[in-house]
Amino acid sequence: MPEEWRYNMVEGTFWLGFICALCLFLAFEAAASLWRSHRLAHAQQFLLRAKQEVQEIAQLPLNNPYPVIQITKEGAIFFANPAALETFPSLKSQGSAHSVLQGALEETSREVVCGDKIFHQSVSETRVNGEDAYIIYCYDITERKHYEDELRDARRHAETARNAAEQAKEARGEFLANMSHELRTPMNGIIGLSGLLAESGLEEDKQNLVTAVHNSAKNLLILLNDILDFSKIEAGELTIENIPFDIRAAVNQVISLQQSVAAEKGLSLRASIAQNVPPSLLGDPSRLQQIMNNLINNALKFTEKGGVTLTVNGREESEGHFTTEIAVSDTGIGIPKDKQAAIFEKFQQADASTARKYGGTGLGLAITKDLARLMGGTISIDSTPGRGTTFTVTVRTPIAQQKAQEKTAAKETANGIDKNARLLIIDDHPVNLLFLRQTLKKMDITNFAEAGGGKQALEMISAHAYDLILMDCQMPEIDGYEASRRIRATQNPDNAPVIIAATADAMKGAAEKCRSAGMDDYISKPIDPQRLYAMLQKWIPAKKEEHSEEKKPAPAAPKIPQAPSTAKAVIDWNFFHGITDGDEAFEKELIGIFIENLNSDIAALQTSFENRDFEAWDSWVHKLYGACVHIGAFSMAHICEKGQEISRADNNKIPKIHQAVLQEYKRVQNMLETRKAAA
Ligand code: ADP
Repeated sequence: MPEEWRYNMVEGTFWLGFICALCLFLAFEAAASLWRSHRLAHAQQFLLRAKQEVQEIAQLPLNNPYPVIQITKEGAIFFANPAALETFPSLKSQGSAHSVLQGALEETSREVVCGDKIFHQSVSETRVNGEDAYIIYCYDITERKHYEDELRDARRHAETARNAAEQAKEARGEFLANMSHELRTPMNGIIGLSGLLAESGLEEDKQNLVTAVHNSAKNLLILLNDILDFSKIEAGELTIENIPFDIRAAVNQVISLQQSVAAEKGLSLRASIAQNVPPSLLGDPSRLQQIMNNLINNALKFTEKGGVTLTVNGREESEGHFTTEIAVSDTGIGIPKDKQAAIFEKFQQADASTARKYGGTGLGLAITKDLARLMGGTISIDSTPGRGTTFTVTVRTPIAQQKAQEKTAAKETANGIDKNARLLIIDDHPVNLLFLRQTLKKMDITNFAEAGGGKQALEMISAHAYDLILMDCQMPEIDGYEASRRIRATQNPDNAPVIIAATADAMKGAAEKCRSAGMDDYISKPIDPQRLYAMLQKWIPAKKEEHSEEKKPAPAAPKIPQAPSTAKAVIDWNFFHGITDGDEAFEKELIGIFIENLNSDIAALQTSFENRDFEAWDSWVHKLYGACVHIGAFSMAHICEKGQEISRADNNKIPKIHQAVLQEYKRVQNMLETRKAAA
């Protein structure tokens, strides 16, 4: 092959290779370019989606119906949604000085008032352009707030109305209690005095008149008691006690009280109590006695021949309860079947002639039925006209604890007072002590000691054992409540004394207060000797020789001055002589002690008045009241009683009543000094 040909072949191969390589390169470039454009399209799509999301998020506050404002941490606004601009129009002009932004960053959640609207603001942190910032959300809570205010107002009004109703109820209760006191006191005076007059050996015609007054007054008192009880029941004011009591002692007292009425009519009156009746039950002995008295009164009233029997039966129930069944049977006129339901209604009598023939109002059985109901019991009747009637009351009560049982079981049924019982009388006022001393002596009780205050009493009790303590409640230093608590805390359980509170506080709750201090019973001041006698008979009855269940009449209480009359004489000499029995030496002693204490008490009253220490003033006036009422200085006692009422209600009226006390004091002092000089 020629040289020239060989050269052309080499050159041709070179160019062929070059072209092939170029083609390969171009193909590779085209593929790479395709791949890049695909990646670009993907990135663009991603960006587009992100942009849309950002826009959606940005739309959120924009569309929010509540104002949303974003501020920097320096407080500058950089975003406010349309709701914010509409709600706070001055936001644009005032910027961060707008009241809605004032102090916004100080709390994460607060309430803010803007114009006539109230907003709840909540603040949350965010970041804008890499900087800390805050989003403030505002919710209009004006309406909710109004509702809340209205609700609060309504609640307040309801509360005020409730308080007013409660106050009215209390006032009504107090009024009833006061009324009963105010009415019963003069009635007792009339009954007591006319009784004394009837026994003073008058000519026959005068005697008859006085007896008529005496009987009418007694009937009026029964009526008053019924009406007052009934109003109390209607007003829901009648409370039932829950104290341990011995039903045998309760029955015994009722029978002794009614025995003379039965004897006057020539009727027999008997009581029997079943052996299984527990010696001590928890309940209200005086209301149970009221029930028994009502039924026996009626039975005696509507019976001309034969007699009346009180039977106490019962059965033990589960959970330590006992159902007591009290039945009163008579051999009297009976009640027709068709009248038997009606007589339990108020003011209902079996027939129209009853009131004319027998008197009465038709309230007794209505009250008895309500009392039984209030004690969780019932009343039923079984009667045959011409043959007699039986009323049966059942009451379910808890059986009292063993300790109380032992205490009362020891007493058994008995008449009179156990003269061997050891008594301690405690009162910080010498006049009251003198009064008590004299009253006890008249009851033929001599086994007693005296203490002039809580401290002395506690010392005496730690050295000697007493069966019964008569405890004044209001005393300086250690008062009756505190003393009783201490006695109960340290007493020997086998030898625990009975503690009877003597309190001038007749308000509701006084009994509860005494009981929670550990006292067993209470007697209100001024102490009515007859009630004291009954109280002693109840707690320290004379021991019975034989254990028969048949009741005998109890010896009557000795003659002791009755409850004070309402005469506003400076000194009620009748009452005074009732205490002294005309014993001149004793009279002199009593007047001496009274004047001495009166002078020092008045001086203390004056000091507390000058110091405007009305609490002390109240306790001195209380002390004066107690002393005056026990000596027969009723006018002064009355003023002191008023003083107490006033000091508890309105201090501004104290100066006037203070002057009245001082004036009356002068009168009492003059009268007693004159008397003392004459004696
Ligand atoms: P009062 O005795 O004051 O009339 P009560 O409510 O005690 O009122 O009695 C209502 C009526 O029931 C009496 O008036 C009388 O007609 C009748 N009654 C009550 N107890 C007896 C009884 N033991 N025997 C006959 N009738 C009675």
